[in-house]
Amino acid sequence: MDTHFDCLVIGSGYAGSVAAREMAERGGRRVLVLERRGHVGGNAYDRLDDAGVLIHQYGPHIFHTNNKTVFDWLSRFTQWRDYQHRVIANIPDEQGGRMTYPVPFNLTSLETAFGPEEGKRLGDKLIAAYGAEKKVTILELRQNADPEIAALADYVYSHVFVRYTMKQWGQTPEEIDPNTTARVPVFLSRDDRYFQDVYQGMPLEGYTPMFEQMLDHPNITVELGRDALKDLDVSGERVLWEGAVFDGPVVYTGQADELFGFRFGPLPYRTLDFQFETLLQDNFQGYGTVNYTVDQDFTRITEFKHMTGQVCPGRTTIVKEYSRAYEGREDETPYYAIIAPDNNALYGQYADLARRFGSLYLLGRLADKSFVEVTREGRFTLYRARVREEDYRRMETNGLLRRYYKNSVAGMVAALVQDEALTGSELAGLKELLRKAGEPGAE
Ligand SMILES: Cc1cc2nc3c(=O)[nH]c(=O)nc-3n(C[C@H](O)[C@H](O)[C@H](O)COP(=O)(O)OP(=O)(O)OC[C@H]3O[C@@H](n4cnc5c(N)ncnc54)[C@H](O)[C@@H]3O)c2cc1C
Repeated sequence: MDTHFDCLVIGSGYAGSVAAREMAERGGRRVLVLERRGHVGGNAYDRLDDAGVLIHQYGPHIFHTNNKTVFDWLSRFTQWRDYQHRVIANIPDEQGGRMTYPVPFNLTSLETAFGPEEGKRLGDKLIAAYGAEKKVTILELRQNADPEIAALADYVYSHVFVRYTMKQWGQTPEEIDPNTTARVPVFLSRDDRYFQDVYQGMPLEGYTPMFEQMLDHPNITVELGRDALKDLDVSGERVLWEGAVFDGPVVYTGQADELFGFRFGPLPYRTLDFQFETLLQDNFQGYGTVNYTVDQDFTRITEFKHMTGQVCPGRTTIVKEYSRAYEGREDETPYYAIIAPDNNALYGQYADLARRFGSLYLLGRLADKSFVEVTREGRFTLYRARVREEDYRRMETNGLLRRYYKNSVAGMVAALVQDEALTGSELAGLKELLRKAGEPGAE
């Protein structure tokens, strides 16, 4: 086996796998990918369970983006199954039974919650006030002088938003950021899809084969079941790998605090307990995901076959998700970074430390952008931009820039922006990235 590598990638989720492929293919570099788990794909990993049902081991994952560049890039490694994600809220009704309606709350939800006539009347009123097919936040509804419209905001807050958020983040209503509350949308439409993105779907053969394809390149070596932190030393001035100075790019996609031995203190995360169950029936709930927004200890139930399209008569596997505080135990996974000013500041200390090394790049859900607000596909765009930033810097150092690339990072981002692929917050994230890199075009 080749033991000389130009760069190290730690983690094989979206961030690590995209980085590895880009550096191997575009940068022509030999890449060693180290993955602590026994499989690639990070949290998007899927597999067949004992009943032969394709499950997402770390919770349901739906691919969605408006960015054609991202979609085309991934499409090199998979074909797609068209899947339009729909989420249903399941709540107690006033007769002691239960009712279900689409979330985000929309015109159909309105008619289910308030009855067809009353629901239609309220829906017409909303459309007259805001226009059809609009997403209106509950803040806007609350500010409406019409008391019926303001009351509707309270209904959506209490029946769809507040208890689900309390379960998910372990917060009291007072602790929930008012800005988050204010942004909860009501969709004045009958489009009951959870995402309106142009590109949505499931990798036809599953996520894991897609990641395997991405990492299948002569310049890439993957080592599974290997914790990189056992051989990576960032306690001094230079990065040491297996005891020797390593000057090539190191892309790290794990926890930023863990990388530096929790030197400034641990960052807070939420973890999830997944309770899988295989049932001997064709169909359990008719939808991919059902949210329990008012009662139950779990947040939601996912039934995988509705998402994956797998045909498996007489059996189906569901998973219930229970959210709780991450305590840092070995058997726990930190799933969600808790975004709050104090935590962002603590994260900033780790990010500053990483920057001092020059060739150490924090990337991905836990290491990097999860502490600023960008959409998921925005993050994905950022991964790609970031990888090219690395290539750019390396080539700039080596005087090879013009030979390999026509565009600077700014040029590439401009191309993406012209594509109208980026939303405002994604664009802001990219500008910040460019600013940090001292790139022209950041303004
Ligand atoms: C329940 C849930 C549902 C989600 N649903 C969606 C969805 O529907 N659509 C969507 O786009 N996104 C979804 N996401 C987000 C998505 O999972 C992430 O954005 C994506 O997986 C992040 O990829 P990543 O590479 O940054 O991190 P990860 O997928 O976490 O990968 C990081 C990898 O690094 C490895 N690692 C860490 N430290 C080390 C080390 N020291 N040595 C070696 N390896 C290490 C880990 O084992 C892991 O495999 C969801 C997330 C969760 C938790």
